[in-house]
Amino acid sequence: MSKPMLSVAGVKTQYGKIIALHGVDLDVNEGEIVTLIGANGAGKSTLMMTICGTPRASEGRILFEGRDITHMPTHEIMRLKIAQSPEGRRIFPRMTVYENLQMGAAMDDYAHFEGDLERMFDMFPRLKERLHQRGGTLSGGEQQMLAIARALMSRPRLLLLDEPSLGLAPLVVRQIFDVIRELNAIEGLTVFLVEQNAYHALKLAHRGYVLVNGSITMAGTGRELLESPEVKAAYLEGG
Ligand code: ATP
Repeated sequence: MSKPMLSVAGVKTQYGKIIALHGVDLDVNEGEIVTLIGANGAGKSTLMMTICGTPRASEGRILFEGRDITHMPTHEIMRLKIAQSPEGRRIFPRMTVYENLQMGAAMDDYAHFEGDLERMFDMFPRLKERLHQRGGTLSGGEQQMLAIARALMSRPRLLLLDEPSLGLAPLVVRQIFDVIRELNAIEGLTVFLVEQNAYHALKLAHRGYVLVNGSITMAGTGRELLESPEVKAAYLEGG
């Protein structure tokens, strides 16, 4: 049997006395889009950050491609070709779009810079138009595109996306999710997507998990979760 690309087992994460994750188990297989949905404060961002090594898991194990990364420094984890587009985008606001993309490519030692830049322009034509504009002057949707493109410039094997739809207009959310779908379908990119926007995330994902107060309460295919009465009542109705 093939092993998962990312395996999170019994992961507990604390902020001082506050326990944010109570022993989370979750797998992401190569070629999948897996989503983690949950309400505000459920611990979604904490899990994503714990995978990247900051904060550290106080218990449990995280394996990436069979390697134990639980105690590895964050910069070494990134070298393993895990890229993150964090919540709130965190692009470099005073740098231009071009410079932001250069920063992403640093992890790949600029080996494929020119060709990858063209790929980003094909995916996000807006970024080409805004190439010499500072990141901070872009619209929310453009900043999200830049955050994803910057992550892709490192040529990740696993892309971690934290709430890419946050604060964006429905049309822009559609564009962003279409790009994620294409990256997965055409290039086979493996994606772990954290979202409050449960409907779009579950439609897109092959599989999903529901996080409630730091514990996984449900798991299933995207379709199973979309059709689950519990998920409908808690995350879909009225949303
Ligand atoms: P959101 O969608 O609002 O980002 P989330 O599901 O990502 O929510 P987290 O941000 O991971 O949730 O927060 C999980 C819990 O940990 C919350 O109770 C939060 O208050 C707490 N928490 C998060 N960051 C810190 C921190 N730096 N220090 C202390 N507590 C924190």
